[in-house]
Amino acid sequence: MDSATARLRLWLVGESARPTWLSDAYTVADGPEHADVAVLMPGTPVEALDDRRASAHAALMPVINASGQSMPGALCDVASLQPALLDEALGVARPVVERLAQLPEIDALADTDALMVLAMAHSRQTPIQATWDFTRPAAVRYAALRGIENPRELLEELAAAELLVRERFDCIHYCPACDGSRLNVREECTECRSSDLGSEPLVHHYRCAYQARESEFLRGRSLECPKCRRALRHYGVDYDKPGVVFVCGHCGAESSDPAVGFLCADCGRHTDSERMDTRTWWHYAITSGGVTALHRGVLPHLSLEASMARGPMGYWVRDFMTLLRFEQAQARRYQRPLSALILRVHNIEAMSDAWGGRGLSRVFAHLVDVLSECLRETDAVTARNHVVYVLLPETPMAETEVIAQRLRETVETVVAGPMQITVERSGGVDGLSTVLEALTD
Ligand SMILES: [Zn+2]
Ligand SMILES: [Zn+2]
Ligand SMILES: [Zn+2]
Repeated sequence: MDSATARLRLWLVGESARPTWLSDAYTVADGPEHADVAVLMPGTPVEALDDRRASAHAALMPVINASGQSMPGALCDVASLQPALLDEALGVARPVVERLAQLPEIDALADTDALMVLAMAHSRQTPIQATWDFTRPAAVRYAALRGIENPRELLEELAAAELLVRERFDCIHYCPACDGSRLNVREECTECRSSDLGSEPLVHHYRCAYQARESEFLRGRSLECPKCRRALRHYGVDYDKPGVVFVCGHCGAESSDPAVGFLCADCGRHTDSERMDTRTWWHYAITSGGVTALHRGVLPHLSLEASMARGPMGYWVRDFMTLLRFEQAQARRYQRPLSALILRVHNIEAMSDAWGGRGLSRVFAHLVDVLSECLRETDAVTARNHVVYVLLPETPMAETEVIAQRLRETVETVVAGPMQITVERSGGVDGLSTVLEALTD
């Protein structure tokens, strides 16, 4: 065994007896804190890992699965716990451990979950994969992110901030009542929506051109045309079977094409296929911007955008743009005033260097407070690339200077530290189009 391998500290998870060679040959830690790699011991349920994943360090730790059961999210599986197999698995784990060792202490930072996602993608050098999992209502999971509940929203935020890049997994129907995707897709009666459908061949009598279900032609074991009463003897000569017809066992209706319906296995709601919506699921790979953010331990763009979006008047950029277009149309149609304020934060990088991620989050939180203090409930706020956009419906340009001035002053008094902002004003339907362009590019 080479000495480099021996230096990795193993955390053995499970009650099963340790072979003596293991404790003799490897460094064994009694918990995740001082370990590099977790080994899920033979016969141990995967859940044994869950309750010890409180820290980012434990959640990011590569797992060698020797349990004998499948474990989605394990770095590698070993068929049995033997020195040679374990050495080989540790060879796979080593570069992951080394990449993790170069990262800042994620638990000490703001945006822990987001940094964990980036650290997972970066340390494994593989995308965060979506996989089917029918043990959960969404029917999809990200097995690598065991420590994060419902990570979809977070992954989408990181993709919006261009720290992750998406790759399509699949487009999946979901129940409009409960959001779940565990659905039975059925062929149904077009009239009564029962799934009690039988199919029957159609018989076409050449001579008189009559066509109907086979059962109408049956006389004992032979066929007779119910219209012209002639016997049908030879397939291809007297008659043929041009297709099938679907017959409802519930209401008796016939149709050539059954309807498609969805029955939710979780809440029991039935939905016609035309009323179903789909949701696209993605795999996510880390971008070079994501790697940089991860090593700095701070996600400035994400934080400003997320802080604003989560504030009382906050919107994500896409929703803000929808609202802006609507307000623009209203303003044009009813000749109503409409204005916007554009707050540029000039020194985010310097602030993040000075105060770190947590300090920066606090500054953003203060900025949200200032905005909710100075603005009205009908105003809307979003942020993108260090710029905060405020939409002021029913507000003429002339009134915006007062609001802008109040914002500048309040930022100076409330936000501790040298936050450098400038506030621009923009008004009218045309001015707002410029805002829209800035948000789009
Ligand atoms: Zn449902
Ligand atoms: Zn006939
Ligand atoms: Zn029916």
